[in-house]
Amino acid sequence: NGSKIWTTHGHHANKIFCLLRTEKAERPQQGISFILLDLDQPGISVKPIITLAGDHEVNQVFFDDAVTPIENLVGEEGQGWEIAKFLLENERGGSCHAPELLADLERLDLAASQEIFEDDCKVSETRTWRRKLADIRLRAQALEVTELQVLANIMEGLEPGPQTSLIKFVASKVRQEVDGLAVDLFGHAALQLETQRPLYGGNAPQPIFSQGAQIATPRYLNSRAWTIFGGTNEVQANIISKTVLGL
Ligand SMILES: Cc1cc2nc3c(=O)[nH]c(=O)nc-3n(C[C@H](O)[C@H](O)[C@H](O)COP(=O)(O)OP(=O)(O)OC[C@H]3O[C@@H](n4cnc5c(N)ncnc54)[C@H](O)[C@@H]3O)c2cc1C
Repeated sequence: NGSKIWTTHGHHANKIFCLLRTEKAERPQQGISFILLDLDQPGISVKPIITLAGDHEVNQVFFDDAVTPIENLVGEEGQGWEIAKFLLENERGGSCHAPELLADLERLDLAASQEIFEDDCKVSETRTWRRKLADIRLRAQALEVTELQVLANIMEGLEPGPQTSLIKFVASKVRQEVDGLAVDLFGHAALQLETQRPLYGGNAPQPIFSQGAQIATPRYLNSRAWTIFGGTNEVQANIISKTVLGL
């Protein structure tokens, strides 16, 4: 019994894993077990949360006398936090953010070359734009190097490790800066907040100005959550200071 808020894509899932307290323990991390439950059962309901960007990505899941067979215990009883930490390391750094960030910057630079000021100067040719773009791009490229190092470790059979907190910390900030740059670029054209979804593919609504402008504000608002999900940046900074820097 209880509820779990912020279950990303829970409305597409048929199973959920839960970290459930199965015994009282001295330390809060102890006595937690990692258990799978079928979502498709009378005791479980999934309620949508619509974000300020207009997206339906997250949900709240309610458990009301939900049941699960003992075979759905993953690992040993009480080992849940160890398993969760391994998964969190993968969530924070097991995927690569830099390629998408760099591709988004390329797209923005192209869009900036089509934005013309009154004096016939392209936005992409202004010093302010080039400096902003270079500043963010350099950090995205540095991020890519760290991501490749982690991937190389994984390929050698090593665990992603606590340096994935560095990846999450930097990637979330760069993501927010890229999306902030887009809103700056498109100006008033980005003020239209399209609430219809999806914004890509054949069913996307017709943009008023351009597709870049149409997605700028939803993406900007959506990426506010990057410094929160998977552990907030303050928590990542604590992990980095303790386990990476040894402070
Ligand atoms: C869009 C979105 C999607 C999410 N998806 C999922 C999901 O799929 N599955 C899932 O399980 N969870 C998910 N979450 C939950 C997310 O992991 C938590 O919201 C996040 O870890 C922060 O925890 P909290 O909400 O309890 O905030 P709190 O821990 O209460 O934090 C509140 C504030 O206190 C600060 N703080 C807390 N502890 C410390 C500390 N030790 N030192 C310094 N500052 C601190 C935080 O940085 C924050 O500013 C999602 C959240 C969002 C917003």
